[in-house]
Amino acid sequence: MNNINLKSFIRCKRKAWLDINGNKSFKTWSPHTAIQVTNQYKIFNGYCDGDLYSGLKACEKGSKGVIGLKLKISSFKNINAEIHPQILIRTIGESKWGKYKYLPGVYRIGRKTTKEHFIDLAFCSTFLEPFQESTIKKGFVISNYANTIKVEEINLNHKLRKKALDLFYNMNMSLEGLIPKITEDRKKCTICTWQNFCDKEAKDHGYLTDIDGIGSKTAKLLKNNGIHNIYKLSSQNEIELSNNLSKFNVQKSEKASKFIKQAKAYISGEPIQISKGEYLSNLLSKKDSGFFIFDIESNPDEKHDFLYGFIKIDNLFRNIEDDFYKPILNIKNNNTESYKKIMQILFSKQYWPVLHYGETEKLAIILIAQKLNFNCEEIELLKSRFIDLHCLIRESWILPIKNYSLKTVANFTGFEWTQKNVNGSKALYWWIQYRISKNEIFLKKIINYNKDDCLATLNITKWIIKNQAKKIKEKLKQ
Ligand code: SF4
Repeated sequence: MNNINLKSFIRCKRKAWLDINGNKSFKTWSPHTAIQVTNQYKIFNGYCDGDLYSGLKACEKGSKGVIGLKLKISSFKNINAEIHPQILIRTIGESKWGKYKYLPGVYRIGRKTTKEHFIDLAFCSTFLEPFQESTIKKGFVISNYANTIKVEEINLNHKLRKKALDLFYNMNMSLEGLIPKITEDRKKCTICTWQNFCDKEAKDHGYLTDIDGIGSKTAKLLKNNGIHNIYKLSSQNEIELSNNLSKFNVQKSEKASKFIKQAKAYISGEPIQISKGEYLSNLLSKKDSGFFIFDIESNPDEKHDFLYGFIKIDNLFRNIEDDFYKPILNIKNNNTESYKKIMQILFSKQYWPVLHYGETEKLAIILIAQKLNFNCEEIELLKSRFIDLHCLIRESWILPIKNYSLKTVANFTGFEWTQKNVNGSKALYWWIQYRISKNEIFLKKIINYNKDDCLATLNITKWIIKNQAKKIKEKLKQ
């Protein structure tokens, strides 16, 4: 057991348990982990000006940064333990190696320093101190945002170290027991290597957190009202549930009807139409026009949209031509030539609507228009052409699915990606690999993936229009 398991334990007790005791054949490869490892090395190397080496020899030599060190701990409550500090950073001091010592550091993804970072630093420092024969008062959290390395100093006081040791002891006890329950906060599961394994169990048991919009707090509220699973939820009376929830949380009570319908759809496998809102009316009024379908691939950490993909289609229900898809690579960020090409495409048919899934695409185009000095009127006109299929599907349908991501919704409408097990993170992983290797094969994979994303958006559009027509026919028959 080590500090890596301890970090998992803080995130989800079950993950720490599965990492040690689970059947590894149920584990899936995660692009997030691969991206993190690559980024982490790049940032650490940049922070240490290239003086970054591995293992004990690097400590003896006095390298500015040391990675890959593994130390066995023999003196902690008879537990077999190790520390694997992410990085050690050389600083002024006295240690067994000479007139310098090391302080621990961790890499941070995202904006917030969390308990995982604090505990990792505190745990590693507790055992690094006697090993290097020198005190450690602080550690570092190193992050990167928009190509700027940031370093935060963390005070590693006695209280924090005690907390880390207590947690390590608790983890040891937990690992010797039965498998812990699935976490209530299912957002954590999206980047977990055990997601498929846990999803199956959650579905089999009808866990409330499997329902879109139900997080840990709502699940608790529902359980307090005697609703312990999705089957019970689906049988509730909408007005009664809304009244019951309003005593605790007005916002949740307004969603009572949606929760019940979502549970019903999930169990029956049948979609439920809820309303004909603004987005749907807009799409239906333009359905006989030609369309652009637009999708972006980005690296959010570097604020870099590296691929813009377009489908140009005269008629949504006609077979599409061979040259219907146009990818525009933006290898160097903020490339005006790429921006001009994008606008050329969009204005080749200046009244055609632009279908996209999620708000990113529209925001990116507005930003490009601003960079190209479009005036307010031109920008407003451009904005009015965008139709967000994600908003549209959410305002008009409840689907029998767990979430409303492009992948899940498109799969439900019968679309399949040509490359297996792909998603946005995998595309980002390929992009990072391309940047390192300059191997064009990665670009081809990204382009194929983006083309499929556009086709998936098209498939959802067709599904919406067809099913709207079906509903109208059914109503006329009644
Ligand atoms: S998928 Fe979710 S519940 Fe399962 S181990 Fe991972 S984080 Fe925990």
